[in-house]
Amino acid sequence: MKNKKSDGNSTGIPLYSEVELYLAELTLREIEAGKDVFQAIRGHPLPDGDGFLSKHTLITAYRNQVRDGIRQEDRNLLKKIRLKPMRTLSGVTTVTVLTKPYPCPGQCIFCPDYEEMPVSYLPDEPGAMRALFHQYDPFTQVTSRIEALHEIGHPTDKIELLVLGGSWTAYQDEYQSWFIKRCFDAMNGTEAETLAQAQSLNEQAQHKNVGLVLETRPDLISRDELARMRILGVTKVQLGIQSLDNKILELNHRGHTVEEARHGVALLRAAGYKIVLHWMPNLLGATLDSDREDFNRLWDDIAPDEIKIYPTQLLKDTQLYDKWKRGEYKPYSTEELIQLITDIKPTIPRYCRVNRVVRDIPSQNVVAGNKRTSLRQDIQVELKSRGEICLCIRCREVRDQEIEIKSLVLNDLIYTSTGCEEHFLSFNTPDDHLAGFLRLSLPGSNAIDTGIKDLDHAAIIREVHIYGQSLPVGQERDGAAQHAGLGTALLAEGERIAAEKGFHRIAVISAVGTRQYYLDRGYKRGDLYMVKENLNRS
Ligand code: SF4
Ligand SMILES: [Zn+2]
Repeated sequence: MKNKKSDGNSTGIPLYSEVELYLAELTLREIEAGKDVFQAIRGHPLPDGDGFLSKHTLITAYRNQVRDGIRQEDRNLLKKIRLKPMRTLSGVTTVTVLTKPYPCPGQCIFCPDYEEMPVSYLPDEPGAMRALFHQYDPFTQVTSRIEALHEIGHPTDKIELLVLGGSWTAYQDEYQSWFIKRCFDAMNGTEAETLAQAQSLNEQAQHKNVGLVLETRPDLISRDELARMRILGVTKVQLGIQSLDNKILELNHRGHTVEEARHGVALLRAAGYKIVLHWMPNLLGATLDSDREDFNRLWDDIAPDEIKIYPTQLLKDTQLYDKWKRGEYKPYSTEELIQLITDIKPTIPRYCRVNRVVRDIPSQNVVAGNKRTSLRQDIQVELKSRGEICLCIRCREVRDQEIEIKSLVLNDLIYTSTGCEEHFLSFNTPDDHLAGFLRLSLPGSNAIDTGIKDLDHAAIIREVHIYGQSLPVGQERDGAAQHAGLGTALLAEGERIAAEKGFHRIAVISAVGTRQYYLDRGYKRGDLYMVKENLNRS
């Protein structure tokens, strides 16, 4: 807890991580140099889709620097920060909750296991600290996070719920249902009798759930699991795939093979889930060259929608630590990592989003190798100096750019993955920024049969994402992409392509809080998906 400071909020829990204070420092420098406060904050998003820096953090960082003599007192700067209202640009606010500690079937040699913590989490990670403070109670975790976000001026009408903490599918069914129901109760501000009732209340609630994300191991995904997760309202699954080399997986005691990982991805895709993969360079047995090759394999067939690059970090109390002490493992240096990730970033396809390039582990826990949590910024600098760019989704999102709807161009990027023909439909600005996109999967004859009735012979819409400011209803703003009907236009195009390819039915993996959106566009409630029939007749 050394590097943490309390923000003096009502809960009294420390909220500032090293990476938050580092980003605050960069932001302050830009504001001082004349950049708009709002833009400066947006330029340095928090890791893991956790939104943006609060004014509180900025002011604390400022005060610390003045106290430590690093910065001169500047009342104007302080005034500027305080006056600027905060708005959220991604359109959706992420709320992260952790499940209670529970044994994971994995034995990965790099994974820490601390008392009172879910496996793989450290007691001084900001999210983990918050969860421990709330004794892993889902209701109070969600409620307090919504309150904190609201206090700093973030709209909280659209919430993506990110459930972390070990391997979700290893928890018992009863706990899973209770946990998710309590999250919905918190978003609804009222207690329902059943999960289904809580979900139905959420369709009209003030804090609508527009995405539900779980994390698990690829070998724990099964056909039964696909339907179970849908009943909970899940829309996106994060899988630790880590490597596509069986030798490396075995050396690191991952306990699953590449084939199992591929099968897990194929199952998720066949059921329309959005797929986020964790990939780890610098595992035991890997080299810089083998990691470059391994990364390339990701795009052959697996083709994730999003990736988190988590370079292996050497932590105490792991088996990898013992190997390092015996000289059997050597972590890459920070410079080697920067070069490696800068090499691979420009090779990432346009349909994928890079969410992370390093895990936000407080550096005092890292025994050797890279300790820098600001790797993303260092990589951007290196990319720029090489004259290269990353074309992933995150690097092309419109963010706070005003867009002219008439100038947008509709693109259809087609690729194949695990038995499906994928269409990444996007609206692009003339300077190649993304105003919105839709993921359409057209299962081929070799796609996995999920056994789910709604998906029988159906094309599947796996994601519709429109960028632009999430403004409370009644405060629409010219140029804000979310309000310009782009989603409807993308849906119509997706339906047209599906019909053209011979599909009569289309199913959307809708979050609970977006069901109404699809009802308004001619979709009906299926058992687990929103469905439109008779496509080629419409
Ligand atoms: S599967 Fe994940 S949580 Fe389980 S031991 Fe491996 S790294 Fe840790
Ligand atoms: Zn990128």
